[in-house]
Amino acid sequence: MSRAYVGFGGNLSDPAVTLRAAAAELGREAGPIAAASPVYRSLPVGVTDQPPFLNAVAALDTALGPDELLDVLLAVEAAHGRVREVRWGPRTLDLDLLWFEGVLRADPRLTLPHPRAHEREFVLRPLCDLAPDLPLHGRPAREWLAALEPQGVEPAGLSLM
Ligand code: AMP
Repeated sequence: MSRAYVGFGGNLSDPAVTLRAAAAELGREAGPIAAASPVYRSLPVGVTDQPPFLNAVAALDTALGPDELLDVLLAVEAAHGRVREVRWGPRTLDLDLLWFEGVLRADPRLTLPHPRAHEREFVLRPLCDLAPDLPLHGRPAREWLAALEPQGVEPAGLSLM
Protein backbone atom coordinates (compact mmCIF):
# COMPACT_ATOMS: atom_id res chain seq x y z
CA MET A 1 0.00 0.00 0.00
CA SER A 2 1.13 3.54 -0.72
CA ARG A 3 -0.06 6.69 1.00
CA ALA A 4 -1.44 9.40 -1.29
CA TYR A 5 -3.08 12.77 -0.64
CA VAL A 6 -5.91 13.90 -2.91
CA GLY A 7 -7.34 17.42 -3.13
CA PHE A 8 -11.08 17.90 -3.74
CA GLY A 9 -12.76 21.06 -5.03
CA GLY A 10 -16.05 22.09 -6.57
CA ASN A 11 -18.31 25.11 -6.87
CA LEU A 12 -21.35 24.06 -8.89
CA SER A 13 -24.55 22.07 -8.20
CA ASP A 14 -24.30 21.42 -4.44
CA PRO A 15 -20.56 20.89 -4.05
CA ALA A 16 -20.87 19.46 -0.51
CA VAL A 17 -22.90 16.55 -1.87
CA THR A 18 -20.53 16.13 -4.84
CA LEU A 19 -17.39 16.13 -2.69
CA ARG A 20 -18.84 13.50 -0.34
CA ALA A 21 -19.95 11.30 -3.23
CA ALA A 22 -16.51 11.60 -4.83
CA ALA A 23 -14.79 10.64 -1.55
CA ALA A 24 -16.97 7.55 -1.26
CA GLU A 25 -16.23 6.56 -4.89
CA LEU A 26 -12.52 7.10 -4.41
CA GLY A 27 -12.56 4.94 -1.28
CA ARG A 28 -14.30 2.15 -3.20
CA GLU A 29 -12.19 2.29 -6.35
CA ALA A 30 -8.73 3.23 -5.14
CA GLY A 31 -8.42 1.94 -1.60
CA PRO A 32 -9.45 2.97 1.86
CA ILE A 33 -9.54 6.61 2.88
CA ALA A 34 -7.43 6.76 6.03
CA ALA A 35 -8.38 10.32 7.01
CA ALA A 36 -10.35 13.25 5.63
CA SER A 37 -9.92 16.94 6.40
CA PRO A 38 -12.73 19.31 7.31
CA VAL A 39 -14.31 21.10 4.33
CA TYR A 40 -13.27 24.71 3.65
CA ARG A 41 -15.01 27.45 1.72
CA SER A 42 -12.63 29.42 -0.50
CA LEU A 43 -12.79 32.45 -2.74
CA PRO A 44 -12.10 31.63 -6.41
CA VAL A 45 -8.51 32.10 -7.62
CA GLY A 46 -7.96 33.33 -11.20
CA VAL A 47 -11.47 33.70 -12.61
CA THR A 48 -13.13 35.52 -9.67
CA ASP A 49 -16.63 35.97 -11.14
CA GLN A 50 -17.97 32.58 -9.98
CA PRO A 51 -19.38 31.00 -6.79
CA PRO A 52 -17.06 30.18 -3.88
CA PHE A 53 -15.47 26.73 -3.87
CA LEU A 54 -15.65 24.00 -1.28
CA ASN A 55 -12.29 22.25 -0.79
CA ALA A 56 -10.97 19.35 1.25
CA VAL A 57 -8.14 16.80 1.27
CA ALA A 58 -8.23 13.05 1.86
CA ALA A 59 -5.42 10.67 2.80
CA LEU A 60 -5.70 7.46 0.83
CA ASP A 61 -3.94 4.12 1.29
CA THR A 62 -3.88 2.62 -2.17
CA ALA A 63 -2.61 -0.50 -3.90
CA LEU A 64 -2.68 1.42 -7.22
CA GLY A 65 0.32 3.11 -8.77
CA PRO A 66 0.27 6.88 -9.32
CA ASP A 67 -0.81 6.68 -12.99
CA GLU A 68 -3.64 4.29 -12.20
CA LEU A 69 -4.74 6.48 -9.32
CA LEU A 70 -4.81 9.53 -11.64
CA ASP A 71 -6.97 7.51 -14.06
CA VAL A 72 -9.43 6.87 -11.22
CA LEU A 73 -9.47 10.56 -10.29
CA LEU A 74 -10.17 11.57 -13.91
CA ALA A 75 -12.95 8.96 -14.18
CA VAL A 76 -14.60 10.17 -10.96
CA GLU A 77 -14.38 13.78 -12.20
CA ALA A 78 -15.93 12.76 -15.53
CA ALA A 79 -18.74 10.88 -13.77
CA HIS A 80 -19.67 14.14 -12.06
CA GLY A 81 -19.86 16.00 -15.33
CA ARG A 82 -16.93 18.27 -14.81
CA VAL A 83 -16.94 21.23 -17.22
CA ARG A 84 -13.38 21.96 -18.33
CA GLU A 85 -13.91 24.82 -20.76
CA VAL A 86 -12.41 27.67 -18.76
CA ARG A 87 -9.06 27.21 -17.08
CA TRP A 88 -9.58 28.02 -13.38
CA GLY A 89 -13.29 28.51 -14.14
CA PRO A 90 -16.27 26.82 -12.48
CA ARG A 91 -16.33 23.05 -12.20
CA THR A 92 -18.56 20.47 -10.60
CA LEU A 93 -15.60 18.49 -9.31
CA ASP A 94 -11.83 18.91 -9.45
CA LEU A 95 -9.60 16.15 -8.06
CA ASP A 96 -5.85 16.68 -7.81
CA LEU A 97 -3.23 14.14 -6.86
CA LEU A 98 -1.25 16.29 -4.43
CA TRP A 99 1.39 13.81 -3.26
CA PHE A 100 2.17 10.14 -3.75
CA GLU A 101 4.53 8.28 -1.43
CA GLY A 102 8.04 8.02 -2.84
CA VAL A 103 7.26 9.58 -6.25
CA LEU A 104 8.80 12.78 -7.62
CA ARG A 105 8.31 13.50 -11.32
CA ALA A 106 7.83 16.35 -13.77
CA ASP A 107 5.73 14.60 -16.45
CA PRO A 108 2.99 16.99 -17.69
CA ARG A 109 0.34 14.24 -17.51
CA LEU A 110 1.21 13.69 -13.86
CA THR A 111 3.56 15.97 -11.95
CA LEU A 112 4.30 14.96 -8.35
CA PRO A 113 4.02 16.59 -5.93
CA HIS A 114 1.27 18.64 -7.61
CA PRO A 115 3.05 21.68 -9.11
CA ARG A 116 0.76 24.30 -7.51
CA ALA A 117 -0.19 22.66 -4.20
CA HIS A 118 2.34 24.66 -2.19
CA GLU A 119 1.01 28.03 -3.47
CA ARG A 120 -2.63 27.56 -2.54
CA GLU A 121 -4.24 28.06 0.82
CA PHE A 122 -7.28 25.99 -0.22
CA VAL A 123 -4.92 22.99 -0.60
CA LEU A 124 -2.48 23.71 2.24
CA ARG A 125 -5.03 24.34 5.00
CA PRO A 126 -6.85 21.02 4.68
CA LEU A 127 -3.57 19.20 3.89
CA CYS A 128 -1.99 20.60 7.08
CA ASP A 129 -4.98 19.32 9.10
CA LEU A 130 -3.88 15.82 8.07
CA ALA A 131 -0.14 15.97 7.38
CA PRO A 132 1.58 19.24 8.38
CA ASP A 133 5.05 17.70 7.96
CA LEU A 134 4.43 16.40 4.43
CA PRO A 135 7.42 17.38 2.23
CA LEU A 136 6.47 19.57 -0.76
CA HIS A 137 9.22 20.97 -2.97
CA GLY A 138 11.80 20.80 -0.19
CA ARG A 139 9.78 22.23 2.71
CA PRO A 140 7.10 20.82 5.03
CA ALA A 141 3.53 21.78 4.07
CA ARG A 142 3.09 23.81 7.29
CA GLU A 143 6.01 26.11 6.33
CA TRP A 144 4.45 26.86 2.93
CA LEU A 145 1.14 27.61 4.67
CA ALA A 146 2.76 29.90 7.24
CA ALA A 147 4.48 31.85 4.43
CA LEU A 148 1.28 32.50 2.41
CA GLU A 149 -0.73 35.70 2.34
CA PRO A 150 -4.33 34.81 3.30
CA GLN A 151 -6.39 33.85 0.22
CA GLY A 152 -9.90 33.80 1.69
CA VAL A 153 -10.20 30.22 2.97
CA GLU A 154 -12.54 29.56 5.92
CA PRO A 155 -13.93 26.42 7.58
CA ALA A 156 -17.31 25.58 6.03
CA GLY A 157 -18.54 23.62 9.08
CA LEU A 158 -18.90 20.44 7.00
CA SER A 159 -17.05 17.15 6.85
CA LEU A 160 -16.00 15.21 3.77
CA MET A 161 -17.12 11.83 5.14
P1 AMP B 1 -6.64 20.79 -14.31
O1 AMP B 1 -7.73 20.92 -15.32
O2 AMP B 1 -5.89 22.07 -14.06
O3 AMP B 1 -7.12 20.13 -13.02
O4 AMP B 1 -5.57 19.80 -14.94
C1 AMP B 1 -5.92 18.47 -15.20
C2 AMP B 1 -4.79 17.81 -15.97
O5 AMP B 1 -3.55 17.99 -15.27
C3 AMP B 1 -5.03 16.31 -16.07
O6 AMP B 1 -5.36 15.99 -17.39
C4 AMP B 1 -3.71 15.67 -15.65
O7 AMP B 1 -3.19 14.82 -16.64
C5 AMP B 1 -2.76 16.82 -15.40
N1 AMP B 1 -1.99 16.67 -14.16
C6 AMP B 1 -0.65 16.78 -14.02
N2 AMP B 1 -0.25 16.58 -12.77
C7 AMP B 1 -1.36 16.32 -12.04
C8 AMP B 1 -1.60 16.01 -10.66
N3 AMP B 1 -0.59 15.92 -9.76
N4 AMP B 1 -2.89 15.80 -10.27
C9 AMP B 1 -3.91 15.89 -11.17
N5 AMP B 1 -3.75 16.17 -12.49
C10 AMP B 1 -2.48 16.37 -12.93
